[in-house]
Amino acid sequence: MNFILKVMEKVSNIIYPIKCVECNKISKQYLCKKCKARLGLKIETNIKVYKNKNFINHIYLFKYSDWIREKLIKYKFRNHTYLYRFFVEIIIEANNQSKFLEKYDYIVPIPISRARKKERGYNQSELIANELARKIDSISVVNIISKKINNKVQSTLKQKEREENVKNVYEINRKEAVNLENNIDKKFLLIDDIFTTGSTSNECAKVLKKFGIKNIDIFTIAKD
Ligand SMILES: [Zn+2]
Repeated sequence: MNFILKVMEKVSNIIYPIKCVECNKISKQYLCKKCKARLGLKIETNIKVYKNKNFINHIYLFKYSDWIREKLIKYKFRNHTYLYRFFVEIIIEANNQSKFLEKYDYIVPIPISRARKKERGYNQSELIANELARKIDSISVVNIISKKINNKVQSTLKQKEREENVKNVYEINRKEAVNLENNIDKKFLLIDDIFTTGSTSNECAKVLKKFGIKNIDIFTIAKD
């Protein structure tokens, strides 16, 4: 982030002070030191390697426990949009140790359909990706996948139904991807909020693979 942006952020933090997402007190961080200690949270990256998916590594911060679950539900379904800043704060904290983000050339947010975006007002993964790119200079966000069909919400379905539900609902966004045709050998990281069966990630990775991209990993905040 450049100097002017940093100053603007400082000013904005004075006008709209940061409040801890747990205790709601004014703080330097979105999760204050006291709450973090009380919760005993370990903020670090976990990696699971897959052999028979369209992506290889799944990197995540937390098991989908009650604590993070509540935050993610608030963020996604109860209009607590500001929480994206909190998620970015913890992703950066984990990244300060493992530097996993620096390994990628492009970050691809998992898209939601136009209808869902209109209803919710934002794409939860895109907000996080864009804020990460604002904070970490080496990150470029590319929105090269679109969701062409507004399918059923995955969380209402069982594993087999989930696989069926996401089949062929994503496609390459040709307009966005046009500049990437010479960069398909680069490293791509898909980003989403939660990983359950991995059907969504796998389907999106399939679309990237079809486009010619080989090096694909997935990052989510939580793994169910
Ligand atoms: Zn607190």
